[in-house]
Amino acid sequence: MGRLEGKNVLITGASSGIGEACAKEFAKSGSNLILTARRIELVEKLGKEFSQKYPSIKIFTYQLDVREKAKVDQLVAALPSDLKNIDVLVNNAGLVIGADKIENVTTETIDTIIDTNVKGLLHVTRTILPIMKERQKGHIINIGSVSGTQVYANGGVYCASKHAVDAISRTLLLELVDTPIRVTQINPGMVETEFSVVRFGGDKAKADKVYEGLQPLTGEDIAEIIVFAASRPDHVNIADVLVYPVNQG
Ligand code: NDP
Repeated sequence: MGRLEGKNVLITGASSGIGEACAKEFAKSGSNLILTARRIELVEKLGKEFSQKYPSIKIFTYQLDVREKAKVDQLVAALPSDLKNIDVLVNNAGLVIGADKIENVTTETIDTIIDTNVKGLLHVTRTILPIMKERQKGHIINIGSVSGTQVYANGGVYCASKHAVDAISRTLLLELVDTPIRVTQINPGMVETEFSVVRFGGDKAKADKVYEGLQPLTGEDIAEIIVFAASRPDHVNIADVLVYPVNQG
């Protein structure tokens, strides 16, 4: 029996990209899944696909905008009793919009990015962590970015948000040092997902230009690393992973 078989895994932003790929990898490993995102129809479709392919796993879908604190608060109560004990939380939901110089950046850009990438991640984490502390087991996996390790012009808000994610992961590591709960931060470079299209407000031609001259990572590349980290023996914590496509400077 694999180490992830029967584990309850909660993924935010499971409707596309890295989150969707991650859901597939965990399903393949026999984990039960709590799939959340705003686009509930997409996670429900995924849930149905997995139920047919892997009939032994349990799946629960929940429409969640991580910015809505009340919805985050209701999540635990909404979980079926056999899925309440979350073993792995993948804090993946995130986005970038409105890249611009800090002097030009809009209030909407600031609020959307910080509310999703930072405050949303904090809300979800503080909601799920007590379950892990009570059981003295669990694993929090935060999806950061290379933008949390470096900065670039016109990316001030997104970089600030991912630096904040890095700070949260490192703080959690310290705060949980006396517990068996693990904390992993994954920092991907360029991954070809809807992310780039969202970044350019739906302009696919602009989005495609980002990947010119290199072969971007895929959601599956990142998902395999996440599942690898989650499936290590209990005493092994992969704290930090930085993963670039070859040729990304
Ligand atoms: P996608 O756009 O494909 O996926 C983003 C996911 O986040 C979607 O499932 C979306 O679901 C969800 N999401 C966005 N806003 C919210 C919200 N308010 N509440 C709940 N869910 C939300 O992009 P990726 O898969 O690439 O992005 C996943 C993570 O990876 C993000 O944190 C991103 O910052 C990070 N990352 C991505 C990189 C890349 O190059 N692609 C590089 C480095 C890091 P829905 O719209 O249905 O709510």
